[in-house]
Amino acid sequence: MRHQWIGGQWLKSNRDRIPVIDPATEAVIDHIPRGTAADADRAVQAAREAFKTWRWLPAVEKAQRLHATARDLRTRQKELATVMTEEGGKPFCENRDEVEWVAACFDYYAEIGRNSRGSSLPPVAHHQVNFTIKEPYGVVVGIIPWNYPLLLMAWKVAPALMAGNTVILKPSEETPLSTLDIADIFGAHLPPGVVNIVTGLGEEIGEALVRHSGTDLIALTGSVETGKHIGQLCAAQVKKFHGELGGNDPFIVCSDADLEIASRACCWAAFLNTGQVCTSAKRIYVFDDIADKFTQQVVKVAKSLRLGNGLDTDTDIGPLINRRQMEDVESRVKDAVRDGAKVLCGGCRSPKFKKGFFYEPTVMVNVKQKMRLVHTETFGPILPIMRVKGIDHVIELANDSAYGLGANIYTNNMEWAMAAMERITAGTFWINDPLTDNDAGPFGGMRQTGHSRELGEEGIDEFRETKHVHLDYKQELKPYWYSKQYNKDAPGV
Ligand code: NAD
Repeated sequence: MRHQWIGGQWLKSNRDRIPVIDPATEAVIDHIPRGTAADADRAVQAAREAFKTWRWLPAVEKAQRLHATARDLRTRQKELATVMTEEGGKPFCENRDEVEWVAACFDYYAEIGRNSRGSSLPPVAHHQVNFTIKEPYGVVVGIIPWNYPLLLMAWKVAPALMAGNTVILKPSEETPLSTLDIADIFGAHLPPGVVNIVTGLGEEIGEALVRHSGTDLIALTGSVETGKHIGQLCAAQVKKFHGELGGNDPFIVCSDADLEIASRACCWAAFLNTGQVCTSAKRIYVFDDIADKFTQQVVKVAKSLRLGNGLDTDTDIGPLINRRQMEDVESRVKDAVRDGAKVLCGGCRSPKFKKGFFYEPTVMVNVKQKMRLVHTETFGPILPIMRVKGIDHVIELANDSAYGLGANIYTNNMEWAMAAMERITAGTFWINDPLTDNDAGPFGGMRQTGHSRELGEEGIDEFRETKHVHLDYKQELKPYWYSKQYNKDAPGV
């Protein structure tokens, strides 16, 4: 049984417990406390107290502490990746990479955060000085999903801390263990209360934090549905809401694409983390003249992929996160088939496993834009292929979506690539290299994906407010100060 990490200590209590289940074996691997509103309040008190001193700590000292955090994360890479695989199902090698990206994010913001704190502005008159300073909001709540539990934590915690905020983390109830496992790293390098970790259900302790008058900014990565609900709660309090929500990314293959490369890239983008990535390729649009050949190659790659426990080094694709997710994917595929779609491979739970939430990598054709499978976010290893007539047609279909996270294209035709880049509504546009992130490149979505950004300089600005300072170094009477009363010769008297 784990505990919550509040004010630099483990909060031991007799809370109700929530089991954490390994999706590959369905075994209960641990329990976490089902945190309450009283726990939320404790965490807020600790974070508020810590904020009084943390915000004033010089940026260089904050940076040293974040670099030290990054070093310890790297030292614990193997151990953390193992826990992440057990609780989330993602293959070990992908989790090992995730830990490295987490450390890199702490290093990146350690540097960015000490680089600038506002800007100097041209004054409107001589002997005046104008500048902006960026200030922290106060207590930031980070609400995290299960698909990249540490990475999406880091994208919030590292910039929020360098901006001078303190943080309360609420990891997903599906994958809380890896976050709790790094509490001692935070404890070694940060003063008590600067980072706190509470556990439990979103609608209980998560919502208590959102509603608490002592929290100043709610940063959520999660579904559109959760984002709308939390966004409304924040609006009612005029509290800052940072939302990184669902996606439904198009993947476009033009007639000039190298089909060997594009088919492998497409399978990787659609099946990575069992298709449970916010930027997974979820709608595949292929130019008509190459569609048959591309489809054949994709099916060949999909059939070659090995499904299994993520701890097994041979595994390419792990299980889905839980039974609910597996049933959701099953029902979407079933509905699409009923409405005329054809399954070329997969399309069912894997018969090879007695336990675990394993669904076969699936390639489908004859799918239609309006099918639920295509039109809403399907979080699973499904690769639905649609044929398109040309670049204008594909841009129209790509834009026919409530989401706007990412978009991909495979082509060397500059005119097509640039037309798609300019006209498709998406926060990230990848040309010939899907899903590659860059700490310096802002990441986030348009439309209902939310309008926030993580990473890059934009990613730290999400966690700080701008104050404009106006200074006149010469004290003098201004001619426009009710001058009539004092100066009988003033104009208009
Ligand atoms: P989710 O919305 O179910 O849960 C996300 C988090 O919100 C969890 O920690 C949950 O406990 C919490 N939560 C739920 N209800 C809450 C409430 N009422 N008050 C406070 N907290 C609450 O999402 P999920 O299933 O964990 O993750 C998958 C979703 O996340 C997908 O839609 C995916 O696209 C999205 N996602 C988006 C990005 C991005 O950067 N845009 C990245 C990863 C995942």
